[in-house]
Amino acid sequence: MALVVQKYGGTSVGSTERIRTVAQRVAKTAAEGNQVVVVVSAMGKSTDTLVGLAADITDNPNQREMDMLLSTGEQVSISLLTMALQALGQPARSMTGAQVGIVTEAHHTRARILSIKPDRLRKALDQGEVVVVAGFQGMSTPAPGNDDFEITTLGRGGSDTSAVALAAALGADHCEICTDVPGILTTDPRLVPEASQMEEVTCDEMLELASLGASVLHPRAVEIARNYGIPVVVRSSWTDQPGTWVRSRPAGPRSLEGMEIARPVDGVELDLNQAKVSLLQVPDRPGVAATLFGAIAQKQLPVDLIIQSIYEGNSNDIAFTVKQADLDLAQSTAGEIYQSLCDAANSALPAEGIVTDGAIAKVSISGAGMIGRPGVAAQMFQSLSDAGVNIQMISTSEVKVSCLVDADQSDRAIAALCKTFEIHSSSLAPLKPAGSQTPPPVRGVALDREQAQLAIRHVPDRPGMAARIFTLLAEAQVSVDMIIQSQRCRRVNGIDTRDIAFTVARDDADRAQAALADIVEKMGCAALEINRTVTKVSVVGAGMVAASGVAARMFDALASAKINIQMIATSEIKISCLVDENLAIEALQAVHQAFALEGTEVVEVPKGA
Ligand code: ASP
Ligand code: MG
Repeated sequence: MALVVQKYGGTSVGSTERIRTVAQRVAKTAAEGNQVVVVVSAMGKSTDTLVGLAADITDNPNQREMDMLLSTGEQVSISLLTMALQALGQPARSMTGAQVGIVTEAHHTRARILSIKPDRLRKALDQGEVVVVAGFQGMSTPAPGNDDFEITTLGRGGSDTSAVALAAALGADHCEICTDVPGILTTDPRLVPEASQMEEVTCDEMLELASLGASVLHPRAVEIARNYGIPVVVRSSWTDQPGTWVRSRPAGPRSLEGMEIARPVDGVELDLNQAKVSLLQVPDRPGVAATLFGAIAQKQLPVDLIIQSIYEGNSNDIAFTVKQADLDLAQSTAGEIYQSLCDAANSALPAEGIVTDGAIAKVSISGAGMIGRPGVAAQMFQSLSDAGVNIQMISTSEVKVSCLVDADQSDRAIAALCKTFEIHSSSLAPLKPAGSQTPPPVRGVALDREQAQLAIRHVPDRPGMAARIFTLLAEAQVSVDMIIQSQRCRRVNGIDTRDIAFTVARDDADRAQAALADIVEKMGCAALEINRTVTKVSVVGAGMVAASGVAARMFDALASAKINIQMIATSEIKISCLVDENLAIEALQAVHQAFALEGTEVVEVPKGA
């Protein structure tokens, strides 16, 4: 007998008629011989309505009372759905978050789950009942010396989190997220009507595509699915279409205690087979990256990290890494391209135009818990700095931070990181992409709008600088996205310096600026520059590690659309380019088309989506 958790969103239980339809579907799943736990959201937009009622009373509602209020929405839908099931002759019982033992932090309106003790739920299942659980809510553990339990909510969209967390605690066979769309799409269909539905996607890919998938499946739910290895499927509430499977690699044993807060980092990886090629002062215009990586791809050279740092004057630095055995060929290919760019511009190749380093190592930390926790990257930089390791290049994505360091410092770097993040060497092996077949090089394309780019010029090139900068930002609760340290080294007052650029959500730009104002002066850096008109376009796919030419194809698509790339950052499964926000949609369309992701069917966009 399988145990299935089904979650129905607000639209799916938006009217009594829909609730009756959902009941039929649940009863059918039970009749097929499954034990079924159903998690539901509040009916339609009722959570919004409740928020509105509170706003009518006061501008500053008490957070405990907000939870008391908002948790009522889900209680309406669980009782009605249970009645509908009973009316069909299906034994069923509703339970609140507290009744199924969902214990959370005490942070009202945004509590994270600490543990689940589903004994009562399991008993009801064993008695042949369907259990209908209120999503989005839990109860907080009492503070020491005070045994008052409180109702908490998990933050907007939190029912997905409830469902996957229950699936993890119960050891369910899978979790179905039943919603008003047929699955997860390759890009935003409002911007690219040719978007098609993915058959499957890995949790890591899904997390990297957060801006694309978050409205369909909450990132916190993906994080739990990944950490506990729960298969999740996103599918329509109304059809038998298969939907999109969100897969994870089989998870190692992981305690249910501290479910959402323990171990933000669960892997430390070392790659000693890295060599770096840097092109300094290449012209800042469309097509340069495309030409360079097109030539590299033609030689079938797999490229790992690619970084283009913020422009200086009218030129950029582009650096990339390849396997050590490929260094000579990569260097000569890059040299030819650089020479031809200079010939075309009638200028001479700069003396220090191409720099290589054959003895570098990549150290990375990975883990789904870094999302929304700005302190994790800072902790990594601090740990490396304490170990006296200088960071040459940084590359970040949602679930991974990689740093290039000198090969002869890599042992020290790894030891420090394992200690800081309490990782035992058994988890050191590089993690293979999950999924049932070989994953495609590119699964989806996402746009992150409302980004701002900040750059600190002339940061002294010595250990500890990145740690200081990103610790300050973490303390100001600013989540940093792409972090890029330039290749170009500039001597200022006898000290070697580099520029560090990064992106943040546009709303956080002022806070980031305020947090850094002091240190920029104290560290003797030059200006802090802000550009508030950038957008990030990213391609994501677990299969890109095994394919060559993915980056070249993306850059080429942008170049053909005459779009200038302002910054490039990559991880194993993601390539992100920063472009001018006015060109964002054009960029998205061009890239989506370049990877032939369009479907044959027109995907219907639900109203109000
Ligand atoms: N009802 C809650 C909300 O609207 C939780 C959910 O639907 O996931 O945010
Ligand atoms: Mg939702």
